[in-house]
Amino acid sequence: MTLLFVNATQVVTCAGAPRARVGIEMRDCGVRTDAAVAVERERIVAVGPRAEIERAYEGATRIDCGGGVLTPGLVDSHTHAIFGRARYEEQERRAAGADYMEIARQGGGIHASVRDLRARDASELLALARPRLERLASYGTTTVEMKSGYGLSIEDELKILRVIRELAAESPMRIVPTWLGAHEIPKEARATPATRASYVKMLRTEMLPLVANEQLAVFADVFCEPGVFTIGESRDLLLAARDSGLRLKLHADELAPSGGAELAAELRATSADHLAAISPAGIQALAASGTVATLLPGTMLFLGKGTRPPARALLDAGAAVALATDFNPGTSPTTNLPFILTLAVSELHMSVAESLLAATVNGAAALGLAAETGQLAPGYSADLALFEIEDIRELPYWYADRRCMGTWVRGKACHSSHLPIT
Ligand SMILES: [Zn+2]
Repeated sequence: MTLLFVNATQVVTCAGAPRARVGIEMRDCGVRTDAAVAVERERIVAVGPRAEIERAYEGATRIDCGGGVLTPGLVDSHTHAIFGRARYEEQERRAAGADYMEIARQGGGIHASVRDLRARDASELLALARPRLERLASYGTTTVEMKSGYGLSIEDELKILRVIRELAAESPMRIVPTWLGAHEIPKEARATPATRASYVKMLRTEMLPLVANEQLAVFADVFCEPGVFTIGESRDLLLAARDSGLRLKLHADELAPSGGAELAAELRATSADHLAAISPAGIQALAASGTVATLLPGTMLFLGKGTRPPARALLDAGAAVALATDFNPGTSPTTNLPFILTLAVSELHMSVAESLLAATVNGAAALGLAAETGQLAPGYSADLALFEIEDIRELPYWYADRRCMGTWVRGKACHSSHLPIT
């Protein structure tokens, strides 16, 4: 079946090379007017002037975009979407002055999510994850990365990754699984330096081989931060993951400049994420290595921190910048990727084109999918999002609003609201 997407006020293609965009390539997101998109089976086959496309694909099923703006489906390349209960009480405690460490001491933080998740079985986690996935799609996201990391034991980490695999099998969305067994040192391993060391060793020698053998993850990630995993531990874990055939990501320099970005660059990781406290040397290292710098400004906003990741310095240095939600129950409970674009423009001083490319092409590059999704161009997967706006600049403008009218993945609708199909 051939589908024709017609009657969009703008078709924003983000078309270009099948790799992360940097520097002046970020200035142009490919806005076209009076254009149409043709899809055959799972692929985009043509993007061009409406009259020409309609002639070439006469008899195709038409999807009337109702004067909206059509973009590539958004790519949310960093989430922790598999968790149990929400942690809303911590927001109020922070407002009253409690800091992260104090909340953790009182049984909150990641450890609270670990305790909660361990008590739930896979079917419960799956039932909690399904509506979250629908919400992600309802804002325009078609590709989403999901990490493990609230299990912190072999049994519970595998449980999360199997839930992600099941979600990926049943949902039309494109889901990319990441193993984050190194999210935190679990409570029971914190007693002595020896128990801590044995947890890190277990990750490398027992958990990781099981994850790799069952092919439960595409990426391995480590939370590299003072007090969590050191640079040395992170390097050992990531090298072992690479040897097991996994690609690499790193939670780096979120709270303190600890050399995380430099490590990600040294290991040629696919992405280094957070970076609110990246050093000037870290910025240069990322720009030189091609490792994508994934910024998560929603996290800093939600935590009430005044610090912001230095997006301009990264962009001006020639680093590849991506944007994601960091969707998780503790520090960024949002599925709204367009709102992250608002933060990118209003707080990180990025242009609209830069922010859109960061959440499409560069998000795809952060998942090793730059030749598959993130662009409206012939040969690409038919992953599209339609918004109820007339100009792409309205996407970050109507902040925190839900303007998405429909998303398609591999040519298949996965979210729609009042969409006329003729
Ligand atoms: Zn994260």
